[in-house]
Amino acid sequence: MQHPNFLPELKSSIRNIPDYPKPGILFKDLTPVFSNPDLLGSIAHFLAAKYAHLGITKVVAIESRGFIIGGILAHLLQTGFIPVRKPGKLPAEVFSENYSLEYGTGSLEIHTDALDSHDRVLLHDDLLATGGTAQAAVRLIKRFGIEEIHSCFLVELDFLSGRKKLEPEIPVFSVVHF
Ligand code: AMP
Repeated sequence: MQHPNFLPELKSSIRNIPDYPKPGILFKDLTPVFSNPDLLGSIAHFLAAKYAHLGITKVVAIESRGFIIGGILAHLLQTGFIPVRKPGKLPAEVFSENYSLEYGTGSLEIHTDALDSHDRVLLHDDLLATGGTAQAAVRLIKRFGIEEIHSCFLVELDFLSGRKKLEPEIPVFSVVHF
């Protein structure tokens, strides 16, 4: 796929916040990206075009920064939107998976009736760091017997090798690499 022409503006709009949320972490703040209407639209349309012909039936997005592009993608791809959330946030019966991420540990949940084995899933989060979070989301999706899972991220921190936890089984695409 062609290099998108919004890439330089996207890169320069990502704000680095040192030592957030913990000392030693360089946090990639995407709020200036999401607040820019041209960038927001360009990114969503670019990703939608990439996945338009794969027969995706559900976009599964990870709380909370994944919900922003994830929701737009579900609309553009005309799929359903499925939230993966932190513990205690989803009201009905859930599956749950523990994970560790760049700056801590946690668990993620999905409603037990959110998907079925015939779904073709596009998993989305804002950023791929160590891959622990996305890997836990993949485990949740697999609880439904789903075989076709694609994944996309706005940002990938290459030095943390997160994609190694997903590939080759789960294809990974990131718009921007650092
Ligand atoms: P990981 O599980 O290590 O791949 O971490 C990915 C998750 O943590 C995503 O939901 C990100 O929003 C968040 N995250 C991890 N590291 C960073 C970072 N340096 N900047 C912004 N978000 C991050």
